[in-house]
Amino acid sequence: MSWERRAEIDLSAIRHNVRRVAELAAPAQVMAVVKADAYGHGALPVARAALEAGATWLGFAHVSEALAARDAGFTAPALAWLHTPDTAFSEAISRNIDLGVSGWELDRVAAAAESAARPARVHLKIDTGLGRNGCTPENWEALLGAAAAYQEDGLLRVVGVFSHLSVADEPDRVETDQQLDAFRTAVALAENAGFDLEVRHTANTPAILSRPDTHFDMVRLGLGMYGLSPFRDQTSEDLSLRPAMRLVARVANAKTVPAGQGVSYGLTYRTGHPTLLALVPLGYGDGVPRSATSGPVHIRGRLFRSCGRVAMDQFVVDMGPDEDIAGLVGAEVVLFGDGGPSADEWAESAGTINYEIVTRVSPRVPRVYVEGSWGETGE
Ligand SMILES: *Cc1c(COP(=O)(O)O)cnc(C)c1O
Repeated sequence: MSWERRAEIDLSAIRHNVRRVAELAAPAQVMAVVKADAYGHGALPVARAALEAGATWLGFAHVSEALAARDAGFTAPALAWLHTPDTAFSEAISRNIDLGVSGWELDRVAAAAESAARPARVHLKIDTGLGRNGCTPENWEALLGAAAAYQEDGLLRVVGVFSHLSVADEPDRVETDQQLDAFRTAVALAENAGFDLEVRHTANTPAILSRPDTHFDMVRLGLGMYGLSPFRDQTSEDLSLRPAMRLVARVANAKTVPAGQGVSYGLTYRTGHPTLLALVPLGYGDGVPRSATSGPVHIRGRLFRSCGRVAMDQFVVDMGPDEDIAGLVGAEVVLFGDGGPSADEWAESAGTINYEIVTRVSPRVPRVYVEGSWGETGE
């Protein structure tokens, strides 16, 4: 099959990573976090693979993302946690989507349950220190009281308590212990208030991998499912994870140029000697960060680096004076993934994190789903 540029998504790698985490986390359940189109990998195929491999829940930021999964036929328990007053709470309740509630949402969710003629399933969120969403410890008991009243009225059921960690990628930081203390207190208060909790959950990928004491009843697996490491000093391989995305394109042009040739907008790069330039047809319109400098690529199995600015549709690679121009147009360029550099190296080049490198690959890049070698027995 012919192709010009594509993001290959290895679903066998997704399954491998889910199985590995499910083993680590058992008896805790695994929620596959597939927000943001599964970090750029494609929410529906990833959700299917994750559930096949043992995940039992799906996690979304937006209700609209969860609704899209319901529309596609997914019936697994699903939670969405980031709302605005315009969120489709009523539809979420009708479609059996659990709702994270930090405070202000409670009245709206209860009203939506009334109009949906069905109780909402609610996970109350405690802010244990991240300072983003979640109820402050000061307001927690008031929130529990309000939720209990609605539950009494049959408008909702509090089925979960959850929180989000701020520094779990640095496992020795004391703030994680402080957050866990606050979480245990919040859970105990909820149980004392009479709620019969199905799931207590607070672990993201770094916590899953480094802090078993964060697992509780369920872990929320994002980055690790995609095979990437959340830690500065550990690679995917160190963690026995398999990166699932491979970003490739075909060389779009090749030419030899003299010393002093300026490259790309602003002419921020000039060749130091006669050299061969290869043009890669991926740019910031495809999600390659414009901030990247010396981004790594593999061509013909060798490492080269981008030079000059990344443009909307393309960037240039200086291949040096010794490469053969013959056959170069159309050759495969691997930005990251199997047989190429890692998303971590691109993150390094662009001053960001691997999470962003995969998530920002834009819809212009076709996703192609493949079955690699990480089968049930081929580990
Ligand atoms: C995105 C997200 C996760 C997943 O985090 P990873 O580090 O990618 O595993 C878990 N919980 C919440 C609330 C999130 O927003």
